[in-house]
Amino acid sequence: MINRRKTRPVYVGNVKIGGDAPVIVQSMTDTKTHDIEATLNQINRLYEAGCEIIRVAAPTEKDAEALPEIVKRSPIPVIADIHFSPRIAFLALESGIHGIRLNPGNINNKGKIKEILQECKKKNIAVRLGVNSGSLEERLLEKYGYPSGEALAESALYWSEFFESVGFTNFKVSIKGSDVLQNIQANQIFAEKTDIPLHIGITEAGPAGKGSIKSAVGLGILLYMGIGDTIRVSLTADPVEEVKVAYQILQSLGLRRKGIEIISCPTCGRIEVNLPEVVKKVEEKLEGEDLPIKVAIMGCVVNAIGEAREADIGLACGNKSAILFKKGQPLKRVSEEEMVDQLLEEIQKMKEEENGRA
Ligand code: SF4
Repeated sequence: MINRRKTRPVYVGNVKIGGDAPVIVQSMTDTKTHDIEATLNQINRLYEAGCEIIRVAAPTEKDAEALPEIVKRSPIPVIADIHFSPRIAFLALESGIHGIRLNPGNINNKGKIKEILQECKKKNIAVRLGVNSGSLEERLLEKYGYPSGEALAESALYWSEFFESVGFTNFKVSIKGSDVLQNIQANQIFAEKTDIPLHIGITEAGPAGKGSIKSAVGLGILLYMGIGDTIRVSLTADPVEEVKVAYQILQSLGLRRKGIEIISCPTCGRIEVNLPEVVKKVEEKLEGEDLPIKVAIMGCVVNAIGEAREADIGLACGNKSAILFKKGQPLKRVSEEEMVDQLLEEIQKMKEEENGRA
């Protein structure tokens, strides 16, 4: 069991972050925000995939002007991503937005930041206080020589104290760098000193394959330490992939359960069925299916019996056939040709039983 760090809760719209809430999954659109229809289409796809909070970039006034319509029609709370410009921050705050993300380091004007926070407080808008290795204050770069984990944590602590000193507590913090160790260290230092919720992520992790691995390592270590109230996996890919990977990371640590978990063996010389093909077909057919079950598809009897018994349902393959297991009990022997259909049929029955109970 993972002992999660005790944090104070923050609400972004109706979504609770921190406290006893589960780790919340976020993503960010990659459309031009002023293209309202494209942005909402993407938000809806992300929502379908399980995204719980969405962030949209607001680099120009034109983007900020699109926010009221996006907020009105989005199925999930929307955060406006603001950099450099207090003016755009104020425009966003008039849009009905649920949260804004600010990097105080790149606004660097305490007077303006205080005014923004006062407005957020008045309107009950949450803030994500962002510290990124790419936009660290000059004084910390001089002190540490580079954006080390200590430097990033010091910046986050400094600005958190400033937020609190002006009476603003409705915020979470994100400390992000593209280096995994720097990231872990910075979040760990910060987590030991405050109860402010943390949004964690490995920024600019890279393309889908490599970026997912880097994110799984970095986020997995932090989550295992109990750190992280909300996550975003940053990939150079369709943001829907970010959501899928985020859930896979959380699911592998037992922190969230979303959709069907497939356990399948890597195959070896003992294999006597085309297991990769069976797994591919099952995965395709179950895409988007939200039944919280484990499906084991094993190549031979060596580990199959044990795994199939641990799973809710499974196939223990042998010579051009398999034993179909359900809840630890063998149901029947099925041929290689019919094993996918038979398995899916049983899963369908489980779904109907589950719906009948609901
Ligand atoms: S379950 Fe059987 S086929 Fe699959 S990797 Fe293990 S020994 Fe090989």
